[in-house]
Amino acid sequence: TVEAQALRRTPEANHAAFLRAQDAIPGGVNSPVRAYGSVGGDPRFLASASGPYVTDVAGREYVDLVCSWGPALLGHAHPDVVAAVQDAAARGLSFGAPTVAEVELAEEVRRRVPAAERVRLVSTGTEATMTAIRLARGVTGRPLVIKFAGCYHGHMDALLAEAGSGVATLALPGSAGVTDATAAETLVLPYNDLAAVEAAFAQRGSEIAAVITEASPANMGVVPPVEGFNEGLRRITSAHGALFIMDEVLTGFRVGPAGWWGLENDAIRAAGGEGYTPDLFTFGKVVGGGMPVAALGGPASVMDHLAPLGPVYQAGTLSGNPVAVASGLTTLRLADDAVYARVDEVSRVLSGAVGDALTAAGVEHRVQRAGSLFSVFFGPLAAASGVRDYAQAQAQETFRYTALFHAMLAAGVNLPPSVFEAWFVSAAHDDAAVDRILAALPNAAEAAAA
Ligand code: PLP
Repeated sequence: TVEAQALRRTPEANHAAFLRAQDAIPGGVNSPVRAYGSVGGDPRFLASASGPYVTDVAGREYVDLVCSWGPALLGHAHPDVVAAVQDAAARGLSFGAPTVAEVELAEEVRRRVPAAERVRLVSTGTEATMTAIRLARGVTGRPLVIKFAGCYHGHMDALLAEAGSGVATLALPGSAGVTDATAAETLVLPYNDLAAVEAAFAQRGSEIAAVITEASPANMGVVPPVEGFNEGLRRITSAHGALFIMDEVLTGFRVGPAGWWGLENDAIRAAGGEGYTPDLFTFGKVVGGGMPVAALGGPASVMDHLAPLGPVYQAGTLSGNPVAVASGLTTLRLADDAVYARVDEVSRVLSGAVGDALTAAGVEHRVQRAGSLFSVFFGPLAAASGVRDYAQAQAQETFRYTALFHAMLAAGVNLPPSVFEAWFVSAAHDDAAVDRILAALPNAAEAAAA
């Protein structure tokens, strides 16, 4: 109707969409962090996205620093990716049979991360970590898994305890519906604390199948591993016959061509060290370029325990979906050194400017970085000594982020709607987009100071 069309272009259109959504969908969203639960207000219902910009149903454009929570490394709707997707779609949406493009994507992952000798494609990061855990249990015959507080590995039962991301945003200890028996098979330890890992293995080493960690955590805000932490996990798990699972769903192919593992090992080798290799990697987000593709990879000696070769079952009607694989493969092929250089540059400029604006406004804070990922922690504790674990991340002044977030939104910049999330940039963030963010920062920093 004419009325509906007119409404579509007004600011009320977004509110109307949210009201309608809440009637049809729990909380109006299909993933909790989208709900603005911690910052308040109406989540923006998006109608389109292009390059560094997203546009909501009311016609308002924002510079986007969410980037679909990571996948949009090249920016939104890169023309070559869209063309590859359209071409694949025209040849069939789903076959339920192997394709050559799936092999090419697996080979591209292995080219970047050679330890991923064999790669199994799945559709979400959750499936990747869930399968990695099952595989570790199947290979070792042991029940227990160690995870770290504040790390998020998706919404599988065993890994929701003290998880980051939306679980942190909503301040939940875990999730209802996870049985005590399942929870008892997960040991949650403080991040960056190798002594705690040593102690857990000393007590129950023969029962521990795996340690899973975010390669560099970014779901409690950005909290990089202290020097030697990941190498320490490698050493301890090897000594006890447990697997070391490095979750690169968020960092993989985003912070560098070979993810956090690549960055960290380059640095270790440059300093004369040997480097380390986990047993299993999980990937998601960038590996699908905005379509549902995720993956797990590792040596044949572990991966070949998966069905159909081995006894560990895993499957998926839409696994390796040809349209999604076209998106992921094209994205990875386009993600060359120039792309990573631009993403690094934008991240460096923005993280510096955020820090400067907050300092100028007298807001105590600490900007933490891991490669091109960064986030801000607020308050005197974070400012004084930085944040190295979940307890410290939770101790910050979260209300300051709410003020910053809304001031930026009003100025046309879309930040992640939670202080516990990383800010994501893309190679499509050109100078015009960056300038718009820089122009909005001083006023937003003032708002955070109030
Ligand atoms: N692992 C990490 C490190 C993540 O950041 C996420 C999602 O944010 C996941 C796993 C789960 O991925 P998905 O949301 O695709 O299930």
